[in-house]
Amino acid sequence: SRLRRIRSWYREAADLRRGLLRGVSALDHSIGRLRRESGSDPLTGVLNRRGLALALEGLREQGIPLSVVMFDIDYFKRINDQYGHLVGDRVVRDVSKVVQEQVRAGDYVARLGGDEFLVVLPQTEVESAAAFAERLRNTVAHALLDSGTPVTLSLGVARIRGHDADTDSLLQAADRALYHAKGRGRNRVSVMTPGGIVDGYELMASSPPG
Ligand code: GH3
Ligand code: MG
Repeated sequence: SRLRRIRSWYREAADLRRGLLRGVSALDHSIGRLRRESGSDPLTGVLNRRGLALALEGLREQGIPLSVVMFDIDYFKRINDQYGHLVGDRVVRDVSKVVQEQVRAGDYVARLGGDEFLVVLPQTEVESAAAFAERLRNTVAHALLDSGTPVTLSLGVARIRGHDADTDSLLQAADRALYHAKGRGRNRVSVMTPGGIVDGYELMASSPPG
């Protein structure tokens, strides 16, 4: 901005000033792009672990309560083995696209690695998070994805209130719920509650409407 205030009477000075401004703006642009890229997953464009950590840190600093939905593609190895890694990659991209269509503004989607993802739902009660997870499960199971390969997900839901738990234990809780969903036969939602792990549809059936 100081460069912009310099008055350049001579053509050479004006050219120099213009060149410098252009250089600074290109650099700004590159730094912005690099910052975005360093926080996102190249295959799907969603957040990577680094981007996720920054997002969770921001929410934690503001004391915003949130729920998370961790999910993993069922029998993904079979897809790779049967159709090859390129189709596997496409399935990962297609799934991430469906998720991105399902979330609201302000939610975060991250790829934790391989076929595992995390969705962060700020200001969301565990019942609503379970409903979201059921909707996502259902949508993916019924969508004939672009790749033409039918896919199902197993999902684990957990919640924290602002300051009362650290991110690691939140992710651990979601991971345990996800593991439970796999154990119960896959293509299902499990929810971590204070009373233990329950099935998503069970929780939705037992919670009052609204
Ligand atoms: P489960 O239902 O228990 O989840 O079975 P699974 O076969 O999906 O098992 P798991 O989630 O452990 O397997 C993940 C596989 O994903 C292992 C690895 O070969 C594959 N994989 C990891 N990263 C990538 C990737 O970027 N692209 C592709 N195509 N495959 C990947
Ligand atoms: Mg899997």
